[in-house]
Parts: sequence; structure tokens; C-alpha cells
Amino acid sequence: MSFMEQLKDGLSKTRKNFTERMEDLVGASVELDEDFMDEMEMILVAGDVGIKTTEKIMAALRKAAATRQIKSPAEALPFLKNYIADLLKTTGPRMRFKGHPSIVLVVGVNGVGKTTTIGKLSNYYRLMGYKVMMCAADTFRAGATEQLQIWGKKAQVDVIAHGDGADPAAVVYDGVKAAIARKADVLFVDTAGRLHNKTNLMKELDKIYRVIRKEIPDGPHETLLVLDATTGQNGLIQAKQFQQAAGITGIVLTKLDGTAKGGIAIAIAKELGVPVKYAGVGEGIDDLKPFDAMDFAQALI
Ligand code: GDP
Repeated sequence: MSFMEQLKDGLSKTRKNFTERMEDLVGASVELDEDFMDEMEMILVAGDVGIKTTEKIMAALRKAAATRQIKSPAEALPFLKNYIADLLKTTGPRMRFKGHPSIVLVVGVNGVGKTTTIGKLSNYYRLMGYKVMMCAADTFRAGATEQLQIWGKKAQVDVIAHGDGADPAAVVYDGVKAAIARKADVLFVDTAGRLHNKTNLMKELDKIYRVIRKEIPDGPHETLLVLDATTGQNGLIQAKQFQQAAGITGIVLTKLDGTAKGGIAIAIAKELGVPVKYAGVGEGIDDLKPFDAMDFAQALI
């Protein structure tokens, strides 16, 4: 299956919710009148695009209609596709890998798919020729270390671990040291997903940052926030909290295959100003794809 096919497949629930409703609306409308605009707005909100972002999209659509840039309901769909692709478009490299090793911190609340994502990313970059290692610093969730070790075997990369209950900063220290000694290109660091209060999260992440920077002054090179697309607007709230605590550089949006509300990707990119870098579309090792704005908009509409 090609990437586009897999993405389309993964987004089938979202497409049903989004595209089919849009197509029905276009089929039932003769003019770009207020009824059409109101209904389109409802479809976007129901698809979890978020109120603010929906308003922005609708303002652009209304303006395009008023200036006769689009003249019929049928022309609204390609307009929306391009507009959404533009909203999601980012510039710059997908990952700032520099120095050996590059450190990628992976954060997010429990259950969003952090460990799975690290497994998939490790395999992805190993296949691209990078020497990859993992570091099991989620010592809080029972079994997280063992789960990462299983992913390490699948992805054929070394895992540095101490075990459940160990001091996360100590595991990171050993992970960084080992990555330097073994001349790894990339070290993915799994972290605990505690978020019962921001001060705790900040303190723990601070400690991890300090340990990394002692050895690698410009690290971590990326801090990826993993978000579960099925949690909808809740994900957006989580993202804002993590953004304040951790200074995230990119988002991995998981479980896009399990949601009808893939529109959340648009809300996240727009409201946080942080790029969505990868999309999870299944539980298998190959079910992670670099996020491409145009492909996403095309798969959606
Ligand atoms: P963590 O607590 O954040 O480390 O989450 P896990 O990596 O343990 O993932 C939690 C569950 O989500 C597991 O059952 C994974 O198989 C599942 N999962 C992760 N990513 C995806 C995805 O993209 N699609 C689907 N359908 N399931 C996923």
C-alpha cells in the first residue's frame, strides 16, 4: 500500500464524517449562500477542527465567495483542500538531527502511544541508515520499560534501561553516555506521562534537560509531544500544558485510524503553531508516516 493509500485508509472514519458530509452538502446546494456557509461551519466544528480555526477557515471561504474567487458550492471543496493544506504547511527540516548523538525527547500523557511511536520512529530511522538507540526513562508506568525493550527487539535497536521505579534522570544519564560511547546518531528518550500538576512535570523535565545538556550542550534537539487524535479537543488542552512546560518542537498525532475527528490535526497546527511531524495510523511498526500537509488535506477532502 502506498503512503497515500495507507493515509486514506487510516483516515477513512474521518473522511466519512468530513468529506461525505461536505459532498452531500455540495450536492444539495445551488448557491454559496448563508445556509451553505452555516452547514459547512457545522461540518468543520463536528470534525474537531476547533472553533477558532473553523472561524478562520470560514472567513476565508466567505471572502473567496464574495470576491467571486469561487463561484459555486462545487468549487468550495478544492478551495478548502488548498486552504487547509496551506494552514498545515511547514518549512524547515522534519527533524533537527545534528551532532552525534541527536537527542529526541518524547513526551505526552499515558496511553497516547509514546512507547509505540518510539518503536516505530526507531525502526523508520534505522531503515534510513541511522544508528538509533532508545532510552527507557518512563520508569513510572508499570511495564513501560519492558514494553520499550520489546519494541527495541522489533526495531532492532539497543535500549538503555534501569527498570520500573528507577530515577528517570539517571536512566537518561546512562542513555546519553551509552549513545556517545556507541556512536549512535539518534537517541529516542521515552519519558513518564505524568501530568497531575504542571510543577511536577516541569521539575522532572528540567532535571532530564540538565542531565542531557551536561553531556550535549545543545540537546535535546527535538522534543516531540505525542497526542492521541481520538481525544479530540482534550488533546489540544494537553498540548497547551506541555507546550508551557516542555517547549515542544513537534507533534506526533497517533490513532488517526481510530477517529472520525482527524480535523484535530488542523486545530493543533494552527492554534499551537507547532508542526505535526508524524501521524500514527495503526499499531504495527510501519504504521507511522511523516505528516504531509497536502497529502493530509487530500486524504481528508
Ligand atoms: P504510552 O503509554 O503513551 O507509551 O502508550 P503506548 O505506546 O503503550 O500505546 C497505548 C495503546 O495505543 C497501545 O495499545 C498501542 O498499540 C496503541 N496505539 C499507539 N499508536 C497507535 C496508532 O497510531 N493507531 C492505533 N490504532 N493504535 C495505536
